[in-house]
Amino acid sequence: MTIKRVAILGSTGSIGVNTLDVIRAHPDRFKVAALTAGKQIDRLAQQCAEFKPAIAVVADADGATRLMQILLDQKINTQVLYGPQALVSAVTDSGCDTVMAAIVGAAGLVPTLAAAKAGKRVLLANKEALVMSGNLFMQAMKGGGGELLPIDSEHNAIFQCLPPQFSKTPNPSLGVEELWLTASGGPFRNTPLEQLGDITPDQACAHPNWVMGRKISVDSATMMNKGLEVIEAFWLFGLPLEKIKVLIHPQSVVHSMVRYRDGSVIAQLGQPDMRTPIAYGLAWPERIEAGVAQLNLTQLAALSFSEPDLARFPCLSLAFAAAKAGGTAPTVLNAANEIAVAAFLNEGMPYLDISSVVDKTLNAIPVSGADSIEYILDIDIQARKVARDCIKSISP
Ligand code: NAD
Ligand code: MG
Repeated sequence: MTIKRVAILGSTGSIGVNTLDVIRAHPDRFKVAALTAGKQIDRLAQQCAEFKPAIAVVADADGATRLMQILLDQKINTQVLYGPQALVSAVTDSGCDTVMAAIVGAAGLVPTLAAAKAGKRVLLANKEALVMSGNLFMQAMKGGGGELLPIDSEHNAIFQCLPPQFSKTPNPSLGVEELWLTASGGPFRNTPLEQLGDITPDQACAHPNWVMGRKISVDSATMMNKGLEVIEAFWLFGLPLEKIKVLIHPQSVVHSMVRYRDGSVIAQLGQPDMRTPIAYGLAWPERIEAGVAQLNLTQLAALSFSEPDLARFPCLSLAFAAAKAGGTAPTVLNAANEIAVAAFLNEGMPYLDISSVVDKTLNAIPVSGADSIEYILDIDIQARKVARDCIKSISP
């Protein structure tokens, strides 16, 4: 068996740690080529001591000095780099063939794109990259000739439920009619609307079924996450937007479904544990042990499904509108959402203002063509500035 060499962008986060958990169980299949983190130096140092990557990357020079010192003391021979360009080096210079793209937010775009262009197997968790630059990213994957495997549980489920030929030749005779993305509805699915004004960050991050990073947890509470996932599915699978549907499914057992022309609906079921899609992506087309408990169907009381309530989840409507508008609108949506979620998590901005900030920012920036990465990054900066001004005007 040839050993796969894996670079993990965002190794100290929730997806990164789960990826290392799967890799740890299969030393005969995987080696770690590079690890990258933002600011969690101690956790990254522990990971370097265990997995001995060729390259480790952190966000800034201070962090790099600290990490270098720890690794030197332990005689660990890992090259330490820092800054955004070093994230690209982790992909291109570490000798990896597989890249787990698990940095949260727009910060993941450039290195993930580098992985696509370099023809790596890209395990895509960072949905924001695809939302910002779907068309260019898919072109880069095509040009690089690597494999793209979705890790987001819904998209991984759909990938598993589609016919194997589908992603290469979306052919009408395969009979794929609709994609159904499931959503738990988050912690506030049934909270009385008048109580949403007082939601705290810890309440918003207490997801009923999944343990995730804080940003995606807030996105799940507002259902912006599902909106971003609709855009992600649009680019990954190439179906028209009106054929991508969202269903509330509070149990998070059915991870998503594909409806076929002949009346068949094929679903993927499993525990809400990201190690399943991660193991799938790492080993594809083989299947390996993921360390996940078996699903016991007889212990599940019921599986239920309903339509999402758009009045409760205005972020979902905003994402649908941005998806429909196309061009730079999803980039603006994503940037405004990142700023608004950070203001809610770190600066006491009220929960209900997240959707107003995104709405106002979308209205302030006219939609144009998303034709180059430079332009997309410019729009991203512009949208962040508008969103910040908007937050100041709401709560000066
Ligand atoms: P997280 O916050 O737990 O981890 C984020 C990682 O990115 C950390 O390693 C952090 O150090 C790194 N990072 C953050 N900002 C950075 C920057 N500016 N430069 C370099 N590194 C930076 O997030 P997560 O929950 O693991 O999510 C990661 C990505 O995967 C997100 O895009 C999320 O939408 C997606 N995703 C996560 C889950 C999940 O279950 N956690 C499921 C589906 C998709
Ligand atoms: Mg998901």
